[in-house]
Amino acid sequence: MHRFAVANARTVAEAAAAALTTVARAMTVPPESIGRDEPSVVKAGGIDVLDLMKEGLLAPAKLVNLREVPGLDEVVEEDGGLRIGPMVTLAALADHALLRRHCAMLGEVLRASASPQIRNVATLGGNLLQRPRCWYFRSHAYHCLRKGGGHCFAISGENQYHAIFNNMPCAIVHPSTIATALVALDATVELTAASGATRRLALEDFFIPPERDLQRENDLRPQEILTAVRLPKLPDSLRTGHLRQGEKDSFDWPLADVAVALDVGPDGICKRASITLGAAAPVPHRAKSAQAALTGKRIDETTAAQAAQAALDGATPLAKNAYKLPLFETLVRRAILKAVA
Ligand SMILES: Cc1cc2nc3c(=O)[nH]c(=O)nc-3n(C[C@H](O)[C@H](O)[C@H](O)COP(=O)(O)OP(=O)(O)OC[C@H]3O[C@@H](n4cnc5c(N)ncnc54)[C@H](O)[C@@H]3O)c2cc1C
Ligand code: SF4
Repeated sequence: MHRFAVANARTVAEAAAAALTTVARAMTVPPESIGRDEPSVVKAGGIDVLDLMKEGLLAPAKLVNLREVPGLDEVVEEDGGLRIGPMVTLAALADHALLRRHCAMLGEVLRASASPQIRNVATLGGNLLQRPRCWYFRSHAYHCLRKGGGHCFAISGENQYHAIFNNMPCAIVHPSTIATALVALDATVELTAASGATRRLALEDFFIPPERDLQRENDLRPQEILTAVRLPKLPDSLRTGHLRQGEKDSFDWPLADVAVALDVGPDGICKRASITLGAAAPVPHRAKSAQAALTGKRIDETTAAQAAQAALDGATPLAKNAYKLPLFETLVRRAILKAVA
């Protein structure tokens, strides 16, 4: 590994000012083009950043550690919902009393992500901002489109873990498991610049599909820090369900996962359906046809099965991942029924 410096930021402004580039930009733009002599990137738990450095894919001059910035690891109630600091570890968040009170499903999703050791170190912010797991992307030997090269090796190669929706010209699946559930719950993010100016946007809009930009997965800008993830006030009538399927029960990314949030009236009719699929597309995939199929209907075995079939609308599986179609269909149907059980 090359030599690098580490600095502890003490305030959000200091951290944002020091984050001269994003990890995505540092991996494609030569340091001299960044226009500063010390390209520095932010580190939270460090799991993904250090992985990329060990693989020789990222070589920052400086890591700016966020651990000592006060307030970034707090979870508080705000506007009837939750404001979650990006430095809260996945383990701490999974067991947080406020999360249990506002949305127990999120705790379930977190406990199904990675391994206990990783969850003790990994942070919510770092998890949402981790780079994709495509094995060609993670290997120094393949200079693919996402790293500024001219070719996607997965589309004609080993694509069993890749996207079945929106998979051209890059077929990554979004790596964050919790993102799937947070998008289903209409979570938003707050980003703070070195000047103190903040931007707030829906998490769903924060993620960037390949057709908008092939070389970054989100709209984080240089000299900007993710300062909060906000969960809106959820109606008492909201029913939620999450299911995942992996090759192993834990310690690994899912092959497919599904989050549903259904607003069901006292008459049993679904007023609004929010259904997202993870490990399906380059961004958490909103299954719009499935949502439409359930809205205005009573939820039962038949309507759940119809919605599950509709969830596959627009799928374009690759040579080695068509197995995901029946997997998603089953998970969507069961997650809907689980939510209303
Ligand atoms: C064996 C294994 C299994 C795994 N399984 C899963 C799984 O099932 N599901 C899953 O979702 N993940 C899984 N992961 C991924 C792991 O959860 C992530 O690598 C981890 O969450 C990253 O968090 P971190 O705090 O270590 O981030 P870091 O590595 O510190 O940072 C990640 C990225 O976020 C940026 N960043 C972090 N915080 C901020 C901030 N506040 N503002 C701006 N930029 C910021 C960094 O610059 C970097 O680009 C697994 C990892 C391993 C090794
Ligand atoms: S899927 Fe994307 S990240 Fe993977 S090889 Fe193709 S272009 Fe690269």
